[in-house]
Amino acid sequence: MWYDGLAGKSWASLWSGYVVCGADCPGIRKIDVPCPACNAGPYDLSSETININGHELVVHPTFMGAEGRYEDYVYLEMLQHEWERPAVEFKGLMHFPDVDRPSARAALLLLFWSYFETRIERLHRSAMRRLPRRVLDDTLRRYNGIGPRLYELYKIFYGTNYFDDLRANGFVGIADLLKDIHQRRNAFSHGTPQAINDATVNALVANLKAEHEAWIVVYNNRVRS
Ligand SMILES: [Zn+2]
Repeated sequence: MWYDGLAGKSWASLWSGYVVCGADCPGIRKIDVPCPACNAGPYDLSSETININGHELVVHPTFMGAEGRYEDYVYLEMLQHEWERPAVEFKGLMHFPDVDRPSARAALLLLFWSYFETRIERLHRSAMRRLPRRVLDDTLRRYNGIGPRLYELYKIFYGTNYFDDLRANGFVGIADLLKDIHQRRNAFSHGTPQAINDATVNALVANLKAEHEAWIVVYNNRVRS
């Protein structure tokens, strides 16, 4: 799995190495390559020496992390926590056959979906940042559910839907996985908890890093001025 290569670092390190491009560009980039959103070149990493009251101070360049909010780290660490804790079957469901029981790790998928919803809102807000704030707030309020934000609102803003946008950028497998997770999460909420089974949770964790990177690519395409 991808996390075997983290050498003890937490899953929050999926954000490490990424920075936000700059004041005029909300693109998510690495410091040593051009920005995929605005094509600005790699950053100058040389230090500056400044003089304060006769004392020389060397100032190294610093960059803003690419996470949307501190909670992005928390979500990833919580997902890791859910994955690494012992999976204990739900006591009240022990007598159900396997196919009628949700995964003992179903909470991981629900947690992921909450995190995913925050990133879709971030994508819309960043890509549509030229709209007056009250218009954007009102539009997001009208299209409040994640379904309308992935389909109807996405179509109004960009002429496609999020899953087809993933496919257009080469992430067919991730699009199929997310669509399946969306349907299963809805089924879970509407009386079919067993829709979130072990196979789906395992597929999500196996593809978490790929999903993260796919979102960044689509985000950068959409926030391009
Ligand atoms: Zn940029």
